[in-house]
Amino acid sequence: MPVGETPDGPPASETADGVSAPRGRREFLLLLGRGFGAAFLGGIAARLAAGWSVAAGKDRPADRARWRIDQARCTFCGKCATACVRKPSAVKAVNDQKLCSNCVVCYGHIYNRSAPSDRIEKETRVCPADAVRRWNFSGGQDGYFIYEIRHEDCSGCGACARECNRYGSKSMSLIIRPDICLDCNECAIAAVCPSGAIYRAPRGEVTEARGIPEDELWGGAR
Ligand code: SF4
Ligand code: SF4
Ligand code: SF4
Repeated sequence: MPVGETPDGPPASETADGVSAPRGRREFLLLLGRGFGAAFLGGIAARLAAGWSVAAGKDRPADRARWRIDQARCTFCGKCATACVRKPSAVKAVNDQKLCSNCVVCYGHIYNRSAPSDRIEKETRVCPADAVRRWNFSGGQDGYFIYEIRHEDCSGCGACARECNRYGSKSMSLIIRPDICLDCNECAIAAVCPSGAIYRAPRGEVTEARGIPEDELWGGAR
């Protein structure tokens, strides 16, 4: 074999046409093949990883369904506050601002439904924790008021929602907060609920409870 030649043939600089060398072409094709191979395998790996992560998400029970309260069945018996394995309970009261009448006297706020407006702050509260907060947004003591539930103090006893549903516009209700609920396989409240109001629902249905957007779902939790 002449000096300067390889078993594959002469170096590129020694070819006659000066356009391409047999060895250079082979190396180029080899590298190209390796590149396509790596890209192909990388694509498969990425697709598998994505598929696995989606499958893993779907396998989590919390992503399939959540425990929920059927508002039409709930009788506000008080067991939501005591039966939940979370202490305090994952159940909280909310006030749907689209249904609330913004009354001067809120029946979920105080018991005396004929209280004069200048006496309201001195009246006995329905909520034992004083978690129903009252905000005047129109000015004047006979104006319009926003009632919100302070979830840090709410035990989920349901007294405010019970009074609102008896005498008011039914804007107050109880929900199971999906961010607090442990999503137990068997909800301890469901086991004792006298009206069978606790059931599993698709996650999307829970976050859109009663049409409240997710960022407003918590009814004024602070
Ligand atoms: S236990 Fe049932 S009826 Fe009682 S407050 Fe909870 S959901 Fe309502
Ligand atoms: S559910 Fe009970 S603790 Fe919670 S705001 Fe209503 S009355 Fe207060
Ligand atoms: S599933 Fe568990 S954590 Fe959630 S409301 Fe029921 S008992 Fe409480």
